[in-house]
Amino acid sequence: MQEQQDTARGIVIVGAGQAGARAAEAARSAGYAGRITLIGAEAHLPYERPQLSKEMLLDVEAPLQMVRDAEGWAALNIDVVTGARIVSGDIRKSVVVAEDGRLFFYDKLLIATGTAARRLPALEAGPLPVLTLRTIEDALALRAHLRPGLRLAVVGGGVIGLEAAAAATKMGATVTVIEAAATLLSRALPPVVSDFLRARHEQAGVVFRLGQPPISATAEGVVLASGEVVPADLILVGIGVEPELDLARSLGLEIDSGIKVDGHGRTSVHNVFAAGDVVSQWCAWHGRAMRIETWANAQNQAAAAARSMVGELTAYQDAPWFWTNQYELNIQVVGNAVGGEVVVRGTPAGGRFSVANLVAGEVVGAVTVNMPKDMASLRRLVAARRSLAADELKDPGFDLRRAAAVR
Ligand code: NDP
Repeated sequence: MQEQQDTARGIVIVGAGQAGARAAEAARSAGYAGRITLIGAEAHLPYERPQLSKEMLLDVEAPLQMVRDAEGWAALNIDVVTGARIVSGDIRKSVVVAEDGRLFFYDKLLIATGTAARRLPALEAGPLPVLTLRTIEDALALRAHLRPGLRLAVVGGGVIGLEAAAAATKMGATVTVIEAAATLLSRALPPVVSDFLRARHEQAGVVFRLGQPPISATAEGVVLASGEVVPADLILVGIGVEPELDLARSLGLEIDSGIKVDGHGRTSVHNVFAAGDVVSQWCAWHGRAMRIETWANAQNQAAAAARSMVGELTAYQDAPWFWTNQYELNIQVVGNAVGGEVVVRGTPAGGRFSVANLVAGEVVGAVTVNMPKDMASLRRLVAARRSLAADELKDPGFDLRRAAAVR
C-alpha cells in the first residue's frame, strides 16, 4: 500500500461532485488554513450536473461547466485528486483507502459520495442499447444517439426522464415515456402541475405509458407488463438513484435511507461529516428524515457541514428547492408541494401559474410554472411556514411579496 505523500492530514473530502466541491470551498472560506484534499472517482474536476439533462443534450457545442478550473482549485490551495475511488476506511486509524490501495489520512473527514443511477438489468439483458444519465460520459453517449427519427423509450417519468424526453423531442426523436406510477413526478408535484406537464409533453408528441412497469427488451422495443411492445431503438432508464454507501458502511456509520446526519452534517462518528445526496437528514417540511437529492442541497447543506467541521457551527435549515426546465417551461418546487390543501394561483391554461400546498393552514410547499418571481416570495413563506387562508392565496390581487416580507 502507498502512503499519502506527506504526513499533513487536514481535511479529507471523499466525493468530488457538487457537495464535495462546495464543502471544500466553504471550509477554506471559513478560514481553515490546513490541508484540504478533495478526492473523486470520476476522471474530471468537479462539474455542474444540471446541464447534463438540459443544455448538453441540445447543443453539441455546449461547454462543460466546471465548479472551478485547475487554477481555481490551486488558488484555494485545495488538492483535487481525480480518478480515485475510495472503497473503505478505518475510523481508529483515521484513514480512507482507494481502490488502487492509496491511503488518505485525515483529521476530519467529510463524505460526499453521492448517488448512482438505478439500473434495470432485465432491460440491459436485451439487444437494445440501454443508457442511464448521471455523468458527463452518460450525457455525451445519449447526445451521440439523438437524431431525427430515433425511437427513444424513456423508462421513468421523473426529472431525468422528462428533461431528456423534452430535449430528445426537440432533436427530432420520437419519444415514449414508460412510468410505473399512474402519474408523473407524483412525489414532487401535485396533480394539477403533473397533468399540465404531461399535456405539454403530449403537445410536443411524447407518448406516455403510465402505470405500466417494463418487463424486458427485444429487438423491437420495450415489453410492458400488459404485453404491449413500445417500439424503440434506444432505451434511457431514469428511475431514481441509489446512495453510494460502501465507505460509510466500512466506517460503521449509522445509515437509514442514506448516511444519518444531524443539522450540522455530523454523522454518528466523531470527526466524520457527510453532505449532499448521500445523506439522510431531517426535513421539517416533509416531517421525516430523507435524502434530498437536489443541486441546492448539495450546495448549501454541504457548505454548512464544512463550516461546522472547521469549528463554525452552522445549522442547515433550508426548505428543499429544485427547478426543472422542459421546453419553454421553468418549474420550481419548494418544500413539500403534495398531499395537503393545494391552492392554485392563476390558470394552468395560460401556461403561467403557481400552486401553494397548505397543511393545517400553513404554507409547507409551493410550485411555480413560469412564475420565477412568485417563487422568491413563496420560498420565504414556506421557510417560515406562514399561516395563510386558502381564499387569500387564491385571490389574484393578493400581494405575495408583501406577505412574504412580513416577519
Ligand atoms: P426520480 O426519482 O425523480 O424519478 C424516477 C421516476 O421513475 C419516478 O417517477 C419513479 O416512480 C419511476 N420509476 C421507478 N422505478 C420504475 C420502473 N421500474 N419502471 C418505470 N418507472 C419507474 O429520479 P430520476 O432518475 O429522474 O433522477 C435522478 C436524480 O437526479 C434524482 O435525485 C433527481 O432529483 C435528480 N435530478 C434532478 C434534476 C432537477 O432538479 N432538475 C434533473 C435531473 C435529475 P416512483 O415515484 O413511483 O418511484
